[in-house]
Amino acid sequence: MNTRTALGGFLLALTSAWLIDAFVLQPPSAAAWPWLLRQQALYLTGVWAIGLMSLIMLLALRPAWLEGPLGGMDKVYRLHKWAGILAVGASAAHWLAKLSSTPLKALAGTEGRPVRDAVLAVLEGSRGLAKDLGEWTIYALLLMLVITLWRRFPYHAWRIAHRAMPVAYLALAVHTLALAPVYYWTGSTGLLLIPLLASGAVAALWSLAGRVGRGRRVAGRIAAVTRHPGGIVGVTCELGRQWPGHRAGQFAFVTFDRSEGAHPFTIASAPGDAPGRVTFQIKALGDYTDHLSDTLAAGQTVSVEGPYGRFERSRSAGAQPQVWVAGGIGITPFLAWLEDQQAAVAGNAPVWLHYCVRDAAKDPFVDTLKQRCAALNNVTLRVHDAGHRLTADDLAQGAVADGRATDIWFCGPAGLSAALREGLRRLGRRGVRWHQEAFDMR
Ligand SMILES: Cc1cc2nc3c(=O)[nH]c(=O)nc-3n(C[C@H](O)[C@H](O)[C@H](O)COP(=O)(O)OP(=O)(O)OC[C@H]3O[C@@H](n4cnc5c(N)ncnc54)[C@H](O)[C@@H]3O)c2cc1C
Repeated sequence: MNTRTALGGFLLALTSAWLIDAFVLQPPSAAAWPWLLRQQALYLTGVWAIGLMSLIMLLALRPAWLEGPLGGMDKVYRLHKWAGILAVGASAAHWLAKLSSTPLKALAGTEGRPVRDAVLAVLEGSRGLAKDLGEWTIYALLLMLVITLWRRFPYHAWRIAHRAMPVAYLALAVHTLALAPVYYWTGSTGLLLIPLLASGAVAALWSLAGRVGRGRRVAGRIAAVTRHPGGIVGVTCELGRQWPGHRAGQFAFVTFDRSEGAHPFTIASAPGDAPGRVTFQIKALGDYTDHLSDTLAAGQTVSVEGPYGRFERSRSAGAQPQVWVAGGIGITPFLAWLEDQQAAVAGNAPVWLHYCVRDAAKDPFVDTLKQRCAALNNVTLRVHDAGHRLTADDLAQGAVADGRATDIWFCGPAGLSAALREGLRRLGRRGVRWHQEAFDMR
């Protein structure tokens, strides 16, 4: 299921519940239509906002069981991000609906204004506080959205601000409980909102207590550190028997330094004979990873949470040829796939591996890839650098051209992915199935 379908289905369920309450179970009062419209817009946007915020809280728990339906933890994060954007949009619309009472008074007068719906009796006295909580939380959410979309805002500062989101959620939950009409709690909206609010509140408290992902976290030691040219460092970790094992192509959240917290990295080694030993290849791509190479040494402790991810080619495809495309450090899942394939050469489908790098002569992985591909009888390696950039035409040759390769597996920069997909569309290769690992979760 893709992000759009999941969010569309979720919003449709909330809207249907609101429709039943607003027009069937609690038919509209005989108020003037502009005021009725305002009232229902206020309620619907409120239901969307708190529903989406609850979903965000649940997705923030990194629920591994959702990886199957959504296609991996990177897609769970994408859903989390888009639910966040929509929640802020719904909150802003809710706030505007609230503010619309002043212009409405001027335009339509106060005649025909609907009577205020009764709310939960125990919270009747908290109306003012609940309104203030809602207003300040909306300002905080708008600010959060701006710093999330403003890519130049430093990630570590963003993460500190992001940690306050469960508090914002709890404030919005109080706002909803105190101000939603009492008939919601016995009607169809309540059927959805009560479990959402209850599970969202538990998830928020869980996050605040720092317990997210704890059950999948394993402590280990760094066994070896290899510094490569181009700002890449290879780190092999010994995790012992506690590590549940992984499948080639999966990733983990790795903490080398508790004050920095966890960063996601693909496990660049195959499960192999030593399942408790995993290797990461990490490129200097920002504030933290720029200095990582200087701080790591064999013997240091490490915490690894996972494995997560569904970047796994289907072996059931039998003899179906495949195309793999890696851009820069996006080669890591393919390193694991190739290592994994060494153990099962027979019967593997033909594969074209396109590896895009800045300078092939200085790249630390080209030699390893050549060796691994040479040892396999089914993988053809093509390395592209400044001399010959990869284009959609390169992909559309051979197996893709004659319609045999329908699966393209991509891991690399978003710009390269967009350009290749657009190129394939222009070439009329619409039947291609595009699988992608998102290296960017923000
Ligand atoms: C599923 C997945 C697999 C990845 N595999 C690899 C890999 O094998 N090798 C590799 O070099 N890089 C990999 N990355 C990218 C790597 O996580 C980022 O380059 C690294 O976290 C950047 O951190 P920074 O503080 O140095 O950079 P910053 O400049 O602070 O951040 C740059 C961007 O990195 C991302 N990022 C930073 N910290 C985190 C975090 N804690 N959680 C989520 N995203 C974060 C954000 O999108 C941020 O905007 C992977 C990312 C994902 C999502």
